[in-house]
Amino acid sequence: MSGTGNTVGTRGLVLNEPLIFGQGSPGRVGYSLPPSDVPEKKAEALIPRRLLRDGIPGLPEVSEVDVIRHYTRISQWNYCVDLGFYPLGSCTMKYNPRINEDMARLPGFAKAHPYQPEELSQGALQLMWELEQYLADVSGLDRVTLQPSAGAHGELTGLMMIRAYHTSRGNPRSKVLIPDSAHGTNPATSALCGYRVVPVKEGPRGVVEAKAVAEVMDEEVAAIMVTNPNTLGLFEENIVDVAKIVHAKGGQVYCDGANLNSVMGISRPGDWGVDVIQINLHKTFSQPHGGGGPGAGPVALRKHLAPFMPFPTVEKKGNRFVLDYQRPKSIGKVRAFAASFGVLVRSYTYIRSMGAAGLRRAAEVAILNANYILSQLKGVYHLPYDRHCMHECVFSDALQARNDIHTLDIAKRLIDYGFHPPTIYFPLIVKGALMIEPTETESKETLDQFIAAMRRIAQEAQENPEMLRLAPHNPRVTRMNETKAAREPKLRWQPT
Ligand SMILES: *Cc1c(COP(=O)(O)O)cnc(C)c1O
Repeated sequence: MSGTGNTVGTRGLVLNEPLIFGQGSPGRVGYSLPPSDVPEKKAEALIPRRLLRDGIPGLPEVSEVDVIRHYTRISQWNYCVDLGFYPLGSCTMKYNPRINEDMARLPGFAKAHPYQPEELSQGALQLMWELEQYLADVSGLDRVTLQPSAGAHGELTGLMMIRAYHTSRGNPRSKVLIPDSAHGTNPATSALCGYRVVPVKEGPRGVVEAKAVAEVMDEEVAAIMVTNPNTLGLFEENIVDVAKIVHAKGGQVYCDGANLNSVMGISRPGDWGVDVIQINLHKTFSQPHGGGGPGAGPVALRKHLAPFMPFPTVEKKGNRFVLDYQRPKSIGKVRAFAASFGVLVRSYTYIRSMGAAGLRRAAEVAILNANYILSQLKGVYHLPYDRHCMHECVFSDALQARNDIHTLDIAKRLIDYGFHPPTIYFPLIVKGALMIEPTETESKETLDQFIAAMRRIAQEAQENPEMLRLAPHNPRVTRMNETKAAREPKLRWQPT
């Protein structure tokens, strides 16, 4: 019997699952075959001795049911959006409609081989071509590369195109402007592309002001990277003026579009003056993510950057769809083959099943849900920027800190109430931040339960802070010493 303390029933059945390497017994196998009716030959008779091993050290000898139970048990320790509310700010943990999965499993898509000839890949190429048109429509830009595998990868691809563009005009330039309220991947991307980061402070309303950009803008600035909506969940309302200032000195406007869920169908980044934007399909366009599912970060761009797009691009020639490798100014490939194709099928399905009006409605409800939480928790938790938000709201622990209760305690206590905690201690510009993004998925009942739990915790912070500091109390693993866990990781299971 693997595990300890198994009893029949519900509450008693808490499995302490050992590693698969700690299970099984010598000689146990996971298959059963009928007796062979052909003569048996020794491996040595077929394969040179020097290529043979005596055995594979360390592999567990387990049965099929051992394997199935092991992985099913640990899968059930996971939290996921199919189990409940997952308000992780900046991550857009929306529900993933099952029709997306059905479409991704169509044999023509699921079994397509990347080396399949173009004539036999017309359906897949058409899907990619049409998805490019839809994403260009949503972003208000001219072309889209579907290659990048994630948001940060899209940023890198976008900035490499900007660098190639400046280089083609004689000077790659040396600096990138980044507001304090941008995502941490933005400065990382700039540094990877060889640029020096010049920070721009946001104004008292939590957004960048045109004046602050004008002060640092010069002809050595290659681009500004603006996260919009920014990491405070606020719309960068001066973006049109900011773009004009940057363009006047020959710079490019890069928008980190990971938070497009609050913008799609309502407003188009191309109309703000943006030249390049990455779109996180795994966030906005519904895709299982978190815990390492595959993503995609297509990049939309203006015409003047099209020569620099990664190759191959998907083009339509008459009634045929072709891959175009003849792009001499291209920055090259940014991944193997064409893209994370299964991800593209899911997002294509999502867009087709929602329609233009549906996408707009999703954005509106995402904004409404975040503002509902904001209005119900305002005063209970400190709101550093007291104004309407977009798809997420950012509180801090300033009120609870008076009782020495901090963001981590609040987040851990939410687990006792059955909620995944929000994003904590991010953005860095808010001390003790709690960043809550409900998405359009959630019903008012769920939001009300979450709000009630948050209010209850605020009350507990006053009445019973000792108890809060030890939370969570209900799950199988309670408060951990996270520093010790990082410094002295214990990676082997030992029976207790
Ligand atoms: C999630 C996110 C990213 C990074 O996207 P990945 O797909 O995780 O690489 C970048 N910027 C913002 C604003 C984000 O929310």
